[in-house]
Amino acid sequence: MKNGVVIVGAGHAGVQAAAGLREDGYDGPVILVGDENELPYHKPPLSKTFIKDQEAKPQPLRGEAFYTGSTIDYRPGIRIDRIDAGRRLELSGGGVLPFDRLILATGSRPRILPLPGSELSGVVSLRSLADARLIRALSAQSEDVVIVGGGFIGLEIAATLKAAGREVTVVEAVDRLLGRAVAPVIARHVRQRLEATGVRILTGTMIARLEGENGHVSAAITTSGERLPAQMVIVGIGVVPNVELAQAAGITIANGIRVDQQMRTSVPEILAIGDAASYRHWLTGGDVRLESVQNATDQARLAARTIVGHADAFAAVPWFWSDIGDMKLQMVGLISGGDSHVVLGDVNENKFSIYHYAGNRLLGIESVNRPGDHMLGRKMLGAGFSPTLQTVATGPDGLKAALAAFQKEEPVRAAE
Ligand SMILES: Cc1cc2nc3c(=O)[nH]c(=O)nc-3n(C[C@H](O)[C@H](O)[C@H](O)COP(=O)(O)OP(=O)(O)OC[C@H]3O[C@@H](n4cnc5c(N)ncnc54)[C@H](O)[C@@H]3O)c2cc1C
Repeated sequence: MKNGVVIVGAGHAGVQAAAGLREDGYDGPVILVGDENELPYHKPPLSKTFIKDQEAKPQPLRGEAFYTGSTIDYRPGIRIDRIDAGRRLELSGGGVLPFDRLILATGSRPRILPLPGSELSGVVSLRSLADARLIRALSAQSEDVVIVGGGFIGLEIAATLKAAGREVTVVEAVDRLLGRAVAPVIARHVRQRLEATGVRILTGTMIARLEGENGHVSAAITTSGERLPAQMVIVGIGVVPNVELAQAAGITIANGIRVDQQMRTSVPEILAIGDAASYRHWLTGGDVRLESVQNATDQARLAARTIVGHADAFAAVPWFWSDIGDMKLQMVGLISGGDSHVVLGDVNENKFSIYHYAGNRLLGIESVNRPGDHMLGRKMLGAGFSPTLQTVATGPDGLKAALAAFQKEEPVRAAE
C-alpha cells in the first residue's frame, strides 16, 4: 500500500487509530489530517476544569514525540473538502492527498440554536479547544451566564462556572435534566445538588430570543417573557455528526456514517469511527451512534486491526463518565429497554449505583461517586454475567464472589 492510510480528524478517534496501526505492525505511511491548529488534546477537561482556570493548559492526547517517533505524519490546520472517486482527498487550501485506505474520524459539531439574536457576540458553544479559550475569556468578563440545554456538557459547564463565582442559569426545554440518558432518580439528584450550589435551573422552559447591546448579548428572554441577564450564553443542545464528506462520496448515512462490525463503511476501503459513526450494537441489537471517549478509542483500535487484516467484530462494553460538580457520574452498558432496577448505596450521601435490568438480564449500571461499582460492572457485562437482584443486594464483595464463580463455570464465554 504505497499511499498508505489517511485518517481525517485528529481527535480522540483519529489519534488512537494512528497509534493502533503502528501497535498492530502496520508499516506503510500513516497520515493524520486535522483541521484544528493544535497538538491533539483531551476534550473532557474543557468543560470540567479548563474554562475556570485562566492558567490551565490543554492536555495533549500524546506527546509531540508520538507524531515523529512513531512515524505518524500529522498535518494540522488542514481541512479535507472532498473524497474523489480516484481514492484522493481534496484539501481546502488546494492540493490532493491520495490514499489506499481512509479512516473518517470527523467527530461531531454542536447543534445550532436558530434563535433571533444567536449571531450576537458572547453566544457560544463548546466543542473545541478554541471554543474553550473563548468561553474562558468571556467568563472573565461575565457576571451572569445562561446555559441553554440541560445535558451533560451544559451541566458540567454550569457546575464549573458556578464554582468560578458566576451566576448561572440553565434553561432546559423538557421537564427534566439529562434527557433520556440517565434514570430519573439520577436526573433529580443532579438537579438538587446543582441547585444547592446556587445554580438556577428552569426546566420545561424555552428561550424565545436573545437581546444584545452594541452587538454583545445582554439577556436571554424565555417564551414566558422572563428576562435572564447574560453577558454570555452557552448553547449545549447536543451535537450532529460530521457526515458531509462521506455523504458527498455516496457512502451510506444513517444517523451517522454507517459502519459494519469491522468499522467499514459501504465503501470497503473507507472506514469510519467515533462520534461520526453509527452501527448496530452487539449488546442490544439496536442502531446507535455513541458520543464517548471509550467508543471513539475502542472503535479506533478495531479499525486499525481491520486494516492490518484481522476480522474481529466490535464487542467493547460501552461506558461513559461525566463530572458535574461533586458528582462523578459513570455509566456502563446501555440501559434503554430496562423494566426494573435496584439501587445500591445511599442517594443522600451522594454515593449510589443503579443496576438496570430487562427481565433477568443486567443491562447496565449508573453510578454516582461509586467507581468500584462501575469497574465491577464493566467486568460483569464484559463477561456476560447478570447477577440476580439478591446478589446485587449483597454489595460489592458478594458481586465479586459471584462473578468469580461464574467465570470459573463459564471460562470460555467469560474470556471472550
Ligand atoms: C467539552 C466536552 C466534554 C466531554 N466530556 C466527555 C466525558 O466526560 N466523557 C466522555 O466519554 N466523553 C466526553 N466528551 C465526548 C468526547 O470528547 C467525544 O465523544 C470524542 O471527542 C469523540 O472523538 P472523535 O475523534 O470521534 O471526535 P472529535 O474528538 O470531535 O475529533 C474530530 C476531529 O475531526 C476534525 N474534522 C472534522 N471534519 C474534518 C475535515 N473535513 N477535515 C479535517 N478535520 C476534520 C474536527 O475538527 C475534530 O478535530 C466530551 C466532549 C466535549 C466537547
